[in-house]
Amino acid sequence: MLAVDGGERVIPEGAVAPWPYILDEDRKAVLGALDQATPWHWPMKPVQELEEAWAQFTGMPYVLAANSGTAALHMAIAAAGVEPGDEVLVPADTFLASASSVLQANAIPVFVDTGIETFNIDPALVEERITGRTRAIIAVDLNGLPADYDALRRIADHRGLALIEDAAQAHGATYRDRPVGALGTMSGASLNGSKTLSALGEGGLFATRDEEQYRLARRVLMFGEELPGQGRDYNARIMGWNYRIDVLAAAFARSQLTRLPEMSRIRRDNGAALTAALDGIPGIRPPVVPEGLTHVYFFYPLLVEPEGLGLDDVPVEAFREAVERAVRAEGLGIMRWQPQPVPAQTLFQELRGYGRGCPWSCGHARPGHAYRPEEYPVAEEICRRRLVLGQSFSSLGPPNDPRTMRTFADVFHKVLVEERASLVALARRCAREAE
Ligand SMILES: *Cc1c(COP(=O)(O)O)cnc(C)c1O
Repeated sequence: MLAVDGGERVIPEGAVAPWPYILDEDRKAVLGALDQATPWHWPMKPVQELEEAWAQFTGMPYVLAANSGTAALHMAIAAAGVEPGDEVLVPADTFLASASSVLQANAIPVFVDTGIETFNIDPALVEERITGRTRAIIAVDLNGLPADYDALRRIADHRGLALIEDAAQAHGATYRDRPVGALGTMSGASLNGSKTLSALGEGGLFATRDEEQYRLARRVLMFGEELPGQGRDYNARIMGWNYRIDVLAAAFARSQLTRLPEMSRIRRDNGAALTAALDGIPGIRPPVVPEGLTHVYFFYPLLVEPEGLGLDDVPVEAFREAVERAVRAEGLGIMRWQPQPVPAQTLFQELRGYGRGCPWSCGHARPGHAYRPEEYPVAEEICRRRLVLGQSFSSLGPPNDPRTMRTFADVFHKVLVEERASLVALARRCAREAE
């Protein structure tokens, strides 16, 4: 019997290890930073060590640690010379911050639909969104899989655009043997506690190959000031913020980064094991990994396909809802993630922005920007059918291993094969509730 109907659950309480995975060396690193942190003087040693380690890991010579991924992306947008009213291309299905970091620079996000196989920006649809105002493309490595950088690089070079990598979900993944964080002109990564490189609290990493971009990003990081060799002159050159990272968060992330290669290998193997174990279970479509890329499964996305069970009369939404409820009751953390593409959110529907419609209506932007969700049919379809495992609640990271993945797959086998009749009954109940 399904656990949602009162049966015994497949995965007992506490059987899946949460993320992040914390070892004694991480605890020591945080305590060590605590002892080093007075007298308070920026930048502190653990922050510099984190920056140096990310530079080494990615091969990007200039790195700045920030207090969030959103801040790091805003720094990249500003360092690309994006000005009020300029346009930046962003995938329609991503986390809000990929687009709101553009608004933070008073620039205009222009969305591009995504691909149903990779969940990432579709390079074939990029050109048609480029106008005389376009300055940059933000490519997001969604779920933990790098975007199609060879194709994006060709377009960006041809059209003279900056290619900014939103690496927030994919630290440790690779694109043709090159690491995430080094796949664009610049990158912004998140160190939020749930991410594949975690600061436990909040944090971010900005990286570039260009010294001038580094200088511009650093102004945004710290009050618009230049930081010459010997200390601050307390003179803001431009509008800047306080995006400095917490020193304890930096020390934790630095310690985790030491193990990132090994943890990424485990994530990749766990994902492959799960996909193999789900083979032949109808009604769900596991993710695919294109040749030459590695995936680190911040999210392990599944698309529900009731059509695969011959349930053409059950609405997709009701089926998704039933699978979610049934799987969760069996002890496996699963969620819908975001229910709609970013341009469908109220921010983009109402165009209120900073108030009075800025930045869209402040005189710098091309008139007539509008966000029509139906222009992103693939992103909409993904949001309609998607359920995700991973993150912190059903982590594909260590110490979970292929045996843990076997139990994840057992849940889907029970729900979609052994107890299919009960699942279908639940889906019909969900459909009635939705009416
Ligand atoms: C988490 C995330 C961000 C923002 O990072 P924060 O550290 O939470 O500000 C940006 N883009 C994507 C794709 C993310 O998943």
